[in-house]
Amino acid sequence: MSENLDSLTAAQIASGVASGDFSAVEVARAALDAIDSRDAQVRAFLQVTPELALAAAEEVDARRAAGEELPPLAGVPFAIKDNMNLVGTRTTCASRMLETYESPYTATCVRRMLDAGCVPVGKANMDEFAFGSSTESSAFHPTGNPWDPDRVPGGSSGGSAAAVAAGMAALSLGSDTGGSIRQPAALCGVVGMKPSYGAVSRYGVVAFGSSLDQVGPFGRTVEDVALAMDALVAGGSDAFDGTSRAVEASFRAHVNDDVAGGRVGVIPELMRAPGLAPEVARAVEEAADALAAQGVELIEVDLPHLDAAIAAYYAIGPAEAFSNLARFDGVRYGYREPGCPNLAEQSAKSRARGFGAEAKRRQMLGAYLLSSGVYDKYYYAAQKARTLIARDYESAFGRVDAILMPVSPTAAFKFGELSDPTQMYLSDLFTISINIVGNGGVSVPVGLGADSGLPVAAQLVGRPFDDARLLSFARAVERGLASAGRGLAGAVAPLFAGKGGDLA
Ligand code: GLN
Repeated sequence: MSENLDSLTAAQIASGVASGDFSAVEVARAALDAIDSRDAQVRAFLQVTPELALAAAEEVDARRAAGEELPPLAGVPFAIKDNMNLVGTRTTCASRMLETYESPYTATCVRRMLDAGCVPVGKANMDEFAFGSSTESSAFHPTGNPWDPDRVPGGSSGGSAAAVAAGMAALSLGSDTGGSIRQPAALCGVVGMKPSYGAVSRYGVVAFGSSLDQVGPFGRTVEDVALAMDALVAGGSDAFDGTSRAVEASFRAHVNDDVAGGRVGVIPELMRAPGLAPEVARAVEEAADALAAQGVELIEVDLPHLDAAIAAYYAIGPAEAFSNLARFDGVRYGYREPGCPNLAEQSAKSRARGFGAEAKRRQMLGAYLLSSGVYDKYYYAAQKARTLIARDYESAFGRVDAILMPVSPTAAFKFGELSDPTQMYLSDLFTISINIVGNGGVSVPVGLGADSGLPVAAQLVGRPFDDARLLSFARAVERGLASAGRGLAGAVAPLFAGKGGDLA
């Protein structure tokens, strides 16, 4: 039998391994081969972990041979954003600051994927410390978009999205502070979910903005993302993360629920936002049509304070980043400049050498925003805006079960195209407010844009902790598009589909 690994979803791999159609070791080898042959072009990985992958796969095969019942994702290869600790790997955050940092323990999210039987194939590239929307701020190298390697994969979890889109892993984990799962998912044509804030533990994930950060999965189908969500929440709240909450592992069980009679909000004004590419607006309309055809009622809603979201985020995010990143001083953590006569100089020089431009920009902004006489003007105002935006969503969710909107205003852009940081910040218009309020959001591929020929996507946002229901709407979009011959469910970028990574 010869089957391309990259044509298999996580659900298919787990069931094939459980029934003995192929072994977990065969799947792991195929994934490692796919990385060998494709990653020279994509550069999604900062570190590949063949020993860890084969050891995990051998354990799965041994358990099956012993007649044990296998966990739900047994043998499924997954990639891990490099801001998540996994013992036996470095956790670099794509920064010189942590270039040699060995994970001292394993993050809860990674541990739970391992407990579900997943096989870790490597650590994925990202924007340095997760600051960015293109993975261009990685200190090590950029990552190419598998649909067009001259374009960015989005960011900050660009490596995680690209690994799945290129068929080098069936699942991956990312983190989303202002859109970093949903936007790269949109640009790479895969499904990406930011769960409600607190649904997934952040323990062992290097913090950016602690009130905004949330871990979530990428997959090539909504069902795969549902399976990963079940794994991530299994075991309930995490004693090591005070903000984590117990969530029922019923994502897969509800993913195909009938959505007829459900109500989904649409925001006509948002669809006229400057900078929104017509092909992206059209993608959102197609998603709306797919829902309507399945008996979903579309209802116009209004989020009047959304305008303030980017400004509020670029006060709250940098302020939190400034305090979180103070620990990287060459003493407690991080690169240490040799030969300095005193601690102050050592800290200053270590930070100057260890951080790249965007990380410095964010921390300088945060330091300024929190300085006396300034914070009441900006930080307080941002917190007030946060409350107003949260009230907008609350009142909209009094009338609808989910809200449909764009993810990224455009398809994948070229390297260097958004070189002005402010322009890059503005590209987060549709994702940022969801982190500000904490609700769940998911990006669903709609197809290839008529103008760019690149993946375009739609975003669904749910009520807080109604993430399983949210995924059932996402699945309805995927299902509706598939029956109309659209969508990208299960698709590997054509440059790579079916090339290498065979199961023997
Ligand atoms: N692009 C946003 C930023 O640069 C979001 C990043 C993220 O979600 N980590 O801050």
